[in-house]
Amino acid sequence: MLAKRGRLEFPWVDTPPAGEAREVAPGLLWARLPLPFRLNHVNVWLLQDDDGWTVIDTGCATPEILNVWEKLLAGPMGGKPVRRVVATHGHVDHIGLSGWMVSRFDADYVGTFAEWMWARVSHMHDVPGSNDAHHSHLVRNGFDDSVAQKLVTSRHRFIDLSSPIPAWITEIRDGETVRLGGRDWQVIVTRGHAFEHASFYDRAANILIAGDHLLPKISPVIAVYEMTPKADPLGDYLESFPSFSDIRPDALVLPSHGMPYHGVHDRILELREHHDRRLDATIEFLRAPRIPIDLARVMFPHVEGPDNIGFALGETLAHVNYLVGRGKVAEERDASGRIVYVACA
Ligand SMILES: [Zn+2]
Repeated sequence: MLAKRGRLEFPWVDTPPAGEAREVAPGLLWARLPLPFRLNHVNVWLLQDDDGWTVIDTGCATPEILNVWEKLLAGPMGGKPVRRVVATHGHVDHIGLSGWMVSRFDADYVGTFAEWMWARVSHMHDVPGSNDAHHSHLVRNGFDDSVAQKLVTSRHRFIDLSSPIPAWITEIRDGETVRLGGRDWQVIVTRGHAFEHASFYDRAANILIAGDHLLPKISPVIAVYEMTPKADPLGDYLESFPSFSDIRPDALVLPSHGMPYHGVHDRILELREHHDRRLDATIEFLRAPRIPIDLARVMFPHVEGPDNIGFALGETLAHVNYLVGRGKVAEERDASGRIVYVACA
């Protein structure tokens, strides 16, 4: 059965139950892991090799997900060992159990260097100066001192959702071909959602493992964080789309969240239009000067709770930095010395 939404087509209408896997192409299995967030699942891909399995992404380190992995390993994976753990990128829902899996099977850890290094630094408590940098980033953007303190502390919960990040890596780079599961995959490294996000395209079978970069329903988080407050991740994201231009239009896209789909180029158009609308809205909201946190509140009126407003701030700053970099918004100071942004006339 085929489901449709706009110009996207979804070859499956239901998802594999927890602990089971569905073959989406010969030797390529889809499994879903439950996440302890509002985004309540992540898709992982299991590729059958002669000598065992290659696993693409692993989920967070929670007892529920460990339990699902035990079922997958004993069931659809037939008790065979995991030889390679591949990371699309370093976010905790993708790499949280990679350290556990790598040490359990003495497997190779495969990923891009920047994502591995980012994960090593950000999934560790007490990296010198990191709490202070996070706190002052939040205060500079309009959070009260006490709320900023809470957000800094709550970030640590994410660290505890990861087993120790593997200590060494087999690095992959943009444009390389890697052989996984008896297939040749072209590595496509893009910025925007992460620093060096890896997607994988099997040209012969016309399958794209897209990670979080091209999700079918939600737009991936594009945010500015305290480590790179001047960054332009939205510019990076929009400029990444040509990297997918030679993917065939009918490719099967395997995303990390949501359902596998056809229509990669239509989805790219939708994502571009979404951000164009958000950029226009940002300019409208900045006809009068606003401090960043107030801008985040009007851009994300339904967001509640300090954690979520923290994410909203990151996304808001991505749009602001994009516009500042293109001379459409100016950074100024108000009477009390706070940063305000205002649209240029
Ligand atoms: Zn991600």
